[in-house]
Amino acid sequence: MKMSRLRFNFGFLLEADFGTIRLIELDYPTIKLSEDVTLTPLTGSFTATRTTEGIYIQGQLQSALSMECVRCLEETIVPVDISLDELFYYPPHNAPPGEPFVGEDGMIDLGPLVRELSLLGVPIKVLCRPDCLGLCQECGANLNYGDCDCVEEEIDPRLATLQQLLNQEERR
Ligand SMILES: [Zn+2]
Ligand SMILES: [Zn+2]
Repeated sequence: MKMSRLRFNFGFLLEADFGTIRLIELDYPTIKLSEDVTLTPLTGSFTATRTTEGIYIQGQLQSALSMECVRCLEETIVPVDISLDELFYYPPHNAPPGEPFVGEDGMIDLGPLVRELSLLGVPIKVLCRPDCLGLCQECGANLNYGDCDCVEEEIDPRLATLQQLLNQEERR
């Protein structure tokens, strides 16, 4: 398994009385969670509470993802808020299928959870700005930087018919 920098050793908390709470603050200038997700930055805090079932993680993280605008394809910074609210079962064999658990070594890897939640916070259509003009269909120029030199050559078929009629009129 690949090591993530969001792995925390909660061995001490597993030893503690039920109800014991620890506050953990995060302040990463940048953190790569997977090949496709790098968070820049990742800040915030969460509490880890020893419960009878394991360790309960709750908190708020703030981050941003670099994505491509769907219209103009420019890199765009998308802010994301991440709400942590998850029970990690301990011992691991008590976890229902698909539920996260604390490792036998007392480690919790928040990487996969934070990655999933950050992607959920990204809109389906990322736009660099609400009124992004996108790219010219002909030359691919980014129209946010100004008009390109392409001339609209398509003539509305209805207008084309009218033009024919006008031409006939002139010939009479
Ligand atoms: Zn755009
Ligand atoms: Zn163009």
